[in-house]
Amino acid sequence: MNEPIPHLVIVGAGFGGLRAAQGLAKAPIRITLIDKQNYHLFQPLLYQVAIAGLVPAQIAYPVRTIFRRQKNLTFQMGEVTEIDLEARYVKLDGSIIAYEYLIIATGGQTNFFGNSSIRQNAFELKNIESAIATRNHLLRMFELASQAADAEKRRALLTFVIVGAGPTGVETAGALAELITHVMKKDYPQMDLKEVRVILLEAGSRVMAAYPDALRQATFKLLRGKNVEILLNTRLTDYDGERLTLSDGKTMDCRTLIWAAGVRASELADQLKVPQAASGRIVTAATLQLPAHPEVFIVGDSAHCTDNKDQTLPMLATVAQQQGRSVAKNLRRILRNEKPTPFQYQDLGLLATIGRNAAVARIWGFSFSGFMAWVIWVALHIYRIIGFRNRLVVLINWAWDYFFYDNQVRLITKE
Ligand SMILES: Cc1cc2nc3c(=O)[nH]c(=O)nc-3n(C[C@H](O)[C@H](O)[C@H](O)COP(=O)(O)OP(=O)(O)OC[C@H]3O[C@@H](n4cnc5c(N)ncnc54)[C@H](O)[C@@H]3O)c2cc1C
Repeated sequence: MNEPIPHLVIVGAGFGGLRAAQGLAKAPIRITLIDKQNYHLFQPLLYQVAIAGLVPAQIAYPVRTIFRRQKNLTFQMGEVTEIDLEARYVKLDGSIIAYEYLIIATGGQTNFFGNSSIRQNAFELKNIESAIATRNHLLRMFELASQAADAEKRRALLTFVIVGAGPTGVETAGALAELITHVMKKDYPQMDLKEVRVILLEAGSRVMAAYPDALRQATFKLLRGKNVEILLNTRLTDYDGERLTLSDGKTMDCRTLIWAAGVRASELADQLKVPQAASGRIVTAATLQLPAHPEVFIVGDSAHCTDNKDQTLPMLATVAQQQGRSVAKNLRRILRNEKPTPFQYQDLGLLATIGRNAAVARIWGFSFSGFMAWVIWVALHIYRIIGFRNRLVVLINWAWDYFFYDNQVRLITKE
């Protein structure tokens, strides 16, 4: 008699879930891939949507199209609200899906560290909706400022604060500064650009804390060259939508605050009631299995995992992708009655752009910055976007913006 084909449920079609599913295309396993969105989102370029550089369709791709040819996979759109690890099923919009194996790849969410005033009034870059809301708001501030006779009100409308000097905050600040100096300058010729401020707030003492010293210094210089004000050792405590308050009691009027200062594991990770490490990430075995439930694997931002130097792996797309591949390999081994092997992270380097012609990179142990790093950043991001048409359109867009100092998507739309 034929053995029944085991059922694998993958929750999350982000970087980790996608790689795991693709790695099992030829395995003797039935896969149900679930995501609350019907598309895979390339989050590293979300800030480009926010600064009116790209439209969402260029950085998102339908999951059903990606898996059109994968015969052992079914996609279901919906939100998993509960997982019963003992009974081995997931709850999806009221229905129940049983599994023999489970991969949780639900990513992360913005961490406001319990500050409700910031959560309510700040903008975040986490999904398409939040990026579009940020774009609409940024553009609306210029419209309102162009009509404001009162100088104080105008300055508040034109003060843009980004909190968190990690790669997302730095990339957003650099791109926003360029949108203002290259594009808004032409759209609002009457406006005095000296009234516009782009401020990067950081509670720690350094920008890009995870980067080598030389790159941190280069980032600082590049941002300053684009007139971004950098306030280090400055902690935000409150923001009511019009005025921010710092830990030393100082206040500043500003109508735009973009929060890029923290990420924590997805809501589903909290719901599981299994041991969690910093940022709510689920503690896994070296093989990425749940210690008490070896049939369950955790990958990506929701997984807490360390490298061979005992350092916690960062929440990066490259980590999630490598973990997805490793889990697929281990499941193939388990299906052949072999033991799973530990996950080993291969550090491929660091790369962040700070606007036109400017990026910082550490590749194969070499740190460098400037035009070459920027060219590598552009090439790599175009290569990593899913879909040939998307790649081509993004390339044409960026080339257009580069040569004509333009940002294509300056539309204020209804949300
Ligand atoms: C603005 C921004 C910029 C970034 N820049 C970079 C960068 O330059 N380089 C880099 O390497 N990384 C970058 N990252 C981090 C990178 O995007 C993440 O590390 C990566 O997406 C994690 O992959 P993942 O598979 O764990 O989760 P994700 O890619 O986030 O995918 C999780 C998926 O799970 C789905 N999901 C969540 N909960 C449920 C549920 N309950 N039910 C059903 N589906 C669910 C979501 O819809 C999503 O599709 C950036 C992140 C952001 C937000």
